[in-house]
Amino acid sequence: MTDRETHIRTCPLCEATCGLELTLNEDRSVKVIRGDRADVFSKGFVCPKGTTLHRLHEDPDRLRKPLVRTGERGEDSFEEVEWADAFSLVAERLGTHLGQDRNSVAVYLGNPNAHGHHNVIYGRPFIKALGTRNVFSASTVDQMPKHVSSGLMFGSPLAIPVPDLDRTDHLLILGANPLESNGSLCTAPDFPGRLQAILDRGGKVVVVDPRRTKTARAASEHVFIRPGTDAMLLLALARLVVQRGPRTEAIQQYTEGLDGVAAAVDPFTVDRVAAVTRIDSEVIVRMAEELMAAPTSVVYSRIGTHTTQFGTLAAWATDLLNVLTGNLDRPGGAMWPAPAHTPRRPSPGGRGYTVGRWHSRVGSHAEANGELPVAAMAEEILTPGEGQVRALVTIGGNPVLSIPDAANLAEALDDLDFMVSIDPSLNETTRHADVILPPPSQLERSHFDLAFYALSVRNIANWSPPLYDSESPDEVEILARLAMAAMGMDPNSDPAPAHDLVLDTLIGQAVAREGSLAHGLDPADVRAALWATHPADRALEVMLRSGRYGDGFGTVPGGLTLEKLADEPHGIDLGALEPQLPDMLSTASGRVELLPEVILADLPRLVEAMSADRPETVLVGRRDLRSNNSWMHNVEVLVKGRERCVVWMNPADAERHGISDGQQVRMTSRVGTVTAPVTITADIAPGVVSLPHGWGHDLPGTRMSVAAGRPGVNTNLLTDAAQLDPLSGNATLNGIPVTLERA
Ligand code: SF4
Repeated sequence: MTDRETHIRTCPLCEATCGLELTLNEDRSVKVIRGDRADVFSKGFVCPKGTTLHRLHEDPDRLRKPLVRTGERGEDSFEEVEWADAFSLVAERLGTHLGQDRNSVAVYLGNPNAHGHHNVIYGRPFIKALGTRNVFSASTVDQMPKHVSSGLMFGSPLAIPVPDLDRTDHLLILGANPLESNGSLCTAPDFPGRLQAILDRGGKVVVVDPRRTKTARAASEHVFIRPGTDAMLLLALARLVVQRGPRTEAIQQYTEGLDGVAAAVDPFTVDRVAAVTRIDSEVIVRMAEELMAAPTSVVYSRIGTHTTQFGTLAAWATDLLNVLTGNLDRPGGAMWPAPAHTPRRPSPGGRGYTVGRWHSRVGSHAEANGELPVAAMAEEILTPGEGQVRALVTIGGNPVLSIPDAANLAEALDDLDFMVSIDPSLNETTRHADVILPPPSQLERSHFDLAFYALSVRNIANWSPPLYDSESPDEVEILARLAMAAMGMDPNSDPAPAHDLVLDTLIGQAVAREGSLAHGLDPADVRAALWATHPADRALEVMLRSGRYGDGFGTVPGGLTLEKLADEPHGIDLGALEPQLPDMLSTASGRVELLPEVILADLPRLVEAMSADRPETVLVGRRDLRSNNSWMHNVEVLVKGRERCVVWMNPADAERHGISDGQQVRMTSRVGTVTAPVTITADIAPGVVSLPHGWGHDLPGTRMSVAAGRPGVNTNLLTDAAQLDPLSGNATLNGIPVTLERA
């Protein structure tokens, strides 16, 4: 609390990390939420979701006590129980499976786990305690291709370069719509203002997308593209840049493989790529020339390019292009953030990055980042045999709405012997659970964007205390108690040993790591110096004080501490991004790997795809400013108004199928059929239809009263779990072949 009436905190709802000012009533309920004008990063920017954060806390449908199933799966047949009883039941049921085969218990981590520091810190130790290889998350319906390409090129899956929005002269965006999403793998509050600033300083923004999105309309130029062909376009641009002479002088000494690039990109001629992407040859050539001619330029590709069968190739081609135009690790180009919670690397080189350290049991899908493709989760549950998944822990998320072939996943969840969900809602996924453990709301916990400050266009640190105390165990305590259960301990005993294990592990890493400002210190002295009291905050404090701006636990006077952050509720600006090559590289070669072997081995698949037959109509997704996947659909003020779960269709396609505006269309894919109303618009390319995700709240047995009133349809009844990007295991959510008929 900064005073009696207001509370300042970072919005936890999306990657933009906006500062919020919450004005409180006398009873300390929230009266209104505005953007925090004094926030060092967002400077007052806010979107409709942020202003309704308190509605999630106040939601009468939000679960306050654990639920245990009393009837059939799929029905709302639960009873409230005490926490100790719920923990005992989970320990008994999980313990049975873990005792037989640790891989028989799977875990699914939803997107909310990344929004804050509590679960980022406690998620991995919990998975380690389970000891299962069946780890699934929302990453493989989203950004796993970028992790894999960054790991292969730069040595770490977290070394993701971001567009230096505030200094670039030319921004080429593919498959991203930040004016609706507010940015992804690019933390930048007020994306609209930052894009407008590029135009205001005489720069150019080009958007390549099968839809004329809100971002495309605000840009200098929009170019339609056939879904799923972005990697081909990027490599055609790379080929043109190579032909005209790449600008790699500044970083050539830090790269490996430059000599082979010309041969690798050679098949992607302008004419071939023009035919398959449906972009005129002259436009492709001009795009390449503009990228080279601008004083600084950067290519930014996101979810529309990643959620295709060539997601990793598209992610790699993006950074290859940034290297070739001379814009990697350069102000105005693609740069790496220097987040406060990590130490500076003292020198380049490391163990490098590999995928496929193990494979899934049924489909033999390669592991990436310690995870298996979530699209394969259902087959791991439904296919009998040794290692079959029989129990599942879900932590946040709503995979029944977000995972391909959703009907099959729902069937699989019903087939489980046991399912426990850590979730505040009885939703389309948790209705299948046997036990639901509801964590407190976002206003009842502290907040630091551990994940997103590593993707930020400025270096920022901002910590928010909880607004309210909670009488229930928070997620950290729930995870600690479940970890104890997984290790055969009584989950209702004192969780301190589990918290100690997490903290001591982090302290051990901090004192051992070269470059850490705690390097060489006595772990006992580090522990004794901690200011914070909450286990997640104590862990964060170790990271911050040993991180690159830290106080080194007293060895760097004036350095960053958590206590200092607590005194600065509007955040601390740690400056613009700075070049970091070569020390940040952790590849085995200590260089930027321009042509990783697994990428080269996958390239022929992309070449072959240029000659493949094309379906007449394909489905793509859509973001909406008022939605955050399925999170916000139980907030009345955000879902009221015009129907948003509608199919966008080009006028030519509508005419061909005899469909008029507002009529229902039946769409059928290989795996399912949905029916939804049509909006006819020239803002979508011919041969493409679009449906937003996160909807489909019409299933029985949920307690989402507002969402159920505006259910929409689940687009993942159409997406196909068999279509994956083989390098990352990422699902294909864009470019799904569908047939259309008037319903
Ligand atoms: S843009 Fe994102 S972080 Fe900012 S207010 Fe909206 S939901 Fe919150």
